Amino acid sequence: MYYNLHTHTYRCHHAKGTDREYVEAAIQGGFKLLGFSDHCPQFFSLPGYYSNFRMTPQETEDYVKSVRSLQKEYASDIKILLGFEAEYYPESFDKLRKLAQSYDFDYLIMGQHFVGNEYDENDYKEHGIYGKRYLVRYVDQVIEGLQTNAFTYVAHPDIAYFGGDKAFYTEQMGRLCAYAKERNIPLEFNMLGYENKRDYPNPAFWEIAAKTGNRVVLGFDAHQPEKLQTHVLYEDCVAKLNAMGISLTPFENIKIVKP
Ligand SMILES: [Zn+2]
Ligand SMILES: [Zn+2]
Repeated sequence: MYYNLHTHTYRCHHAKGTDREYVEAAIQGGFKLLGFSDHCPQFFSLPGYYSNFRMTPQETEDYVKSVRSLQKEYASDIKILLGFEAEYYPESFDKLRKLAQSYDFDYLIMGQHFVGNEYDENDYKEHGIYGKRYLVRYVDQVIEGLQTNAFTYVAHPDIAYFGGDKAFYTEQMGRLCAYAKERNIPLEFNMLGYENKRDYPNPAFWEIAAKTGNRVVLGFDAHQPEKLQTHVLYEDCVAKLNAMGISLTPFENIKIVKP
């Protein structure tokens, strides 16, 4: 029984395929639930700044229409949900949340790709390095974001790169894990990062999560329809987690939160 709440669309400019192809790949792959969570638009206050790995606010309407129409069309085959993968940026989160609410989104997952408000991320680095100050800000910002009660889970919670000492990493990520545990908010083991051998999933992080007893979900982070059929990779991730003493949270135990 597969489910996936982390699915992208071509609107983010680095994913391929039509929305329908993702749905059909999921049905063929035996999924009972598919959540679209493409990279959200953001409302930056810095004039002229926009990141190109996300849709624009104007593209939201087409995204919503497409997902809702597939949801109806395929209702007897698969449950489809409408969401965003969203960063929590203090300056603009209210606008983003209102946008999602105005279209009656089903959920948001937090993918905190940058700290601060993105365009000012360098303010949190020391001499351009992702050091202690950066890691502290990352953890604070994830917790502040979760405090809005707008997020269903945290995607790749271990995305923050930190090359410093392990004790400091454990202390800081321990705060993130403890907060998520207290609130029963699942953490995502990211299959795309695993497949591409990125810095995440970071074994040091998952040791902490195992000790903390967090709820854990697998996220396909699909940027191509066929990635929803990588069951060998899925089983590999499950085995990896099980070996660390982590079992996946069944879908029934995940609280899908309306933004
Ligand atoms: Zn992406
Ligand atoms: Zn992401």
